[in-house]
Amino acid sequence: MNRGLTWAADTAGIVFDIQHFSLHDGPGVRSTVFFKGCPLSCRWCGNPESQGTRAQLMYFQHLCAACGNCVSACARHALFLEKDGLHIDRDACVACGKCVPYCQRGARAISGHGMSVHEISAEVRQHWRIFQQSGGGVTVSGGEPLAQKDFLYALLQELHDEAGLHTCLDTCAKAPWPVLERMLPHLDLVLLDIKHIDDATHRQWTGAGNADILLNARKLVESPVEMLVRLPLIPNFNDTDDSLIAFGNFLRETGFRNIEIMPYHTLGLSKYRALGKAYTLPPKAEPRLSAAIDVLNDYGLDVTVHRH
Ligand code: SF4
Ligand code: SF4
Repeated sequence: MNRGLTWAADTAGIVFDIQHFSLHDGPGVRSTVFFKGCPLSCRWCGNPESQGTRAQLMYFQHLCAACGNCVSACARHALFLEKDGLHIDRDACVACGKCVPYCQRGARAISGHGMSVHEISAEVRQHWRIFQQSGGGVTVSGGEPLAQKDFLYALLQELHDEAGLHTCLDTCAKAPWPVLERMLPHLDLVLLDIKHIDDATHRQWTGAGNADILLNARKLVESPVEMLVRLPLIPNFNDTDDSLIAFGNFLRETGFRNIEIMPYHTLGLSKYRALGKAYTLPPKAEPRLSAAIDVLNDYGLDVTVHRH
């Protein structure tokens, strides 16, 4: 479609990935747009590059041959080649990306780049035939998309109202209700991540309380938009009987009927290393999946399990 750019199409934000042919974040075949920035810092986060609001350098040490080609590219003197390999002064690095093309081994990448609504729309519209044939569309995920609220609003307007695509928001709902409410007319589905019912435990494992999240959940269930609650099932955090019972009680009392369990995984472990961040949970732990299914079924919830 040829048309002039609106203010909305010019609106820009920071995105760290767009994945096409996604099958797990809403109905049909989807394109998933990942926004950068999140008000939570969940200890199990599978996308640690999503948490910060700015671009970040990722360095995949296992691919590095310690050739030193990238060192001279850095005007900030953030790179040092020593006997034990390459070192990065992350305080000096401004994620400019100038060193990336100097690496022939793909050991360096920048996570996060600016994109306009128009650019994202043009990219995902290339898949509209697949969306139509499969009943799919576009999912906005993150990070937390609501953290870039004006960018999200403009993007949903464009994709839902202008392009006529099915839109889905994958959110932890950590935002003031009016921010979330403003998005609803431009959404077909909300995937609502609720991680724990107890405020203190939520704060301890995610860095923030959940009072606003639970309040938003109560309001969302009254909205006409289709809703699916998702529970990231994390060992020793929310897979205990007490946690699951509290969860079942809250969902039944609030009026939710469907829940998708997302079992703990460590697929993002290499990204922690690439960002120079510590990972503080045991990599080999297994959540109590069948116990969780049994408890939530007892509360009359229709339970599905997310497969990675
Ligand atoms: S991203 Fe820029 S500042 Fe960071 S190491 Fe590379 S060249 Fe230096
Ligand atoms: S250019 Fe690539 S392989 Fe060479 S030292 Fe830098 S990161 Fe390592």
